[in-house]
Amino acid sequence: MTRGSSFDVAVVGLGAMGAMSAWRLAARGAGVIGFERYRPGHDHGSSHGDTRIFRTAYFEGPDYVPLLQRAQVLWRLLEKESEAELLTMTGGLAIGRLEGELVAGVLASARQNDLPHRLLDVTEMSHAYPQHRLEHGEVAVLENEAGFLRPERAVSAAAARAEALGARLMTDTQVISVEASRSGVVVVTSRGRFEAEQALITAGAWTPKLTRHLHLPLKVERQVMGWLAVTDPARFAPQRFPVFIRETDHGRFRYGFPTTDGRSIKLAVHHEGGDTDPDSIDSEIQDADVQPMRDFARDHLLGVTGDMVDARVCMYTNTPDDRFIVARDASLPGVIILSACSGHGFKFAPVMGELMTGALLDDRAVPAIIHSA
Ligand SMILES: Cc1cc2nc3c(=O)[nH]c(=O)nc-3n(C[C@H](O)[C@H](O)[C@H](O)COP(=O)(O)OP(=O)(O)OC[C@H]3O[C@@H](n4cnc5c(N)ncnc54)[C@H](O)[C@@H]3O)c2cc1C
Repeated sequence: MTRGSSFDVAVVGLGAMGAMSAWRLAARGAGVIGFERYRPGHDHGSSHGDTRIFRTAYFEGPDYVPLLQRAQVLWRLLEKESEAELLTMTGGLAIGRLEGELVAGVLASARQNDLPHRLLDVTEMSHAYPQHRLEHGEVAVLENEAGFLRPERAVSAAAARAEALGARLMTDTQVISVEASRSGVVVVTSRGRFEAEQALITAGAWTPKLTRHLHLPLKVERQVMGWLAVTDPARFAPQRFPVFIRETDHGRFRYGFPTTDGRSIKLAVHHEGGDTDPDSIDSEIQDADVQPMRDFARDHLLGVTGDMVDARVCMYTNTPDDRFIVARDASLPGVIILSACSGHGFKFAPVMGELMTGALLDDRAVPAIIHSA
């Protein structure tokens, strides 16, 4: 039996992108129904692990900057509406060689967009941030508009705000398919069929499975985050230890956060994980998973021990060019698929929600920087 046909938009998957989209759609007055196989804020997808970096001087491209500036406004709005602390500004360090992809990209982005930043050499870094051990010839760019987000709290807050604005959110509900119907689409779920005029598919790592017929160029990658004990937690407090990304001499990317638990800092490797299936991912942590973080701490940080107090598995959903995908389905008019990950999507989530709202309700085009399949 098909239930209710009074919804304007059905949102499939209430992780970062889906919950933020439901919030922005409901704020515009749209009739929203959302489906989530787990519960908002869960740890089975791509939006868990305590922290996510927010940064504005984007090495991936200066054209992302206006979106990030808008995202920051929306993060603050969500904080205000939900009375939750979601974004802590710490400043951000990009460390590497001047000519490397990271530092050159951050500088280009900062200069093109007039973003406040400072270039620090080895000596200046040893005074300002002695927790980092730089090698001869390395530099760091410090930008102001950077910090960290709290992913589980943020997704739950957006879902709660969407519900408060009238959205109907169905948790513990698996979507099996999205099909065409006379009035738009019918969403077939483990708890029945639901009609809506349009649908937004924000299923994260499960997007390839739900949209198999579209052959989107997406690959799911297993990623591990590790928490290493620090000897003097006060030196790694958010006021003293900005979020950082470091490009090593081998063109590899490592990143880390200040302490949020008063005893350890989170470190992670960007990419370098194996392809995986989200339904059969290996969630056991192996020594090989955490060795790169221990090696990084030993070689590049001071005051971080090899004692791993926690480690967790997560997933990237990557496109070939590390941009995002906003796709329409020619066989299903009124359906948009959003995959905004490639390991850097979280900070954009509220602005993606706003862009999806414009695309669905006003047929507005999304900026070209978002790779549109
Ligand atoms: C380890 C790691 C570190 C990262 N670090 C950063 C960072 O520092 N900064 C940053 O900006 N980004 C970062 N990212 C990327 C960012 O976290 C992702 O871009 C973002 O979380 C993706 O959100 P999503 O909504 O696409 O996926 P998810 O949040 O996983 O949401 C997808 C949702 O869809 C649901 N779903 C799927 N299939 C179905 C179905 N059939 N029926 C019902 N529900 C379904 C899932 O249960 C899930 O809740 C990182 C990612 C990882 C894994």
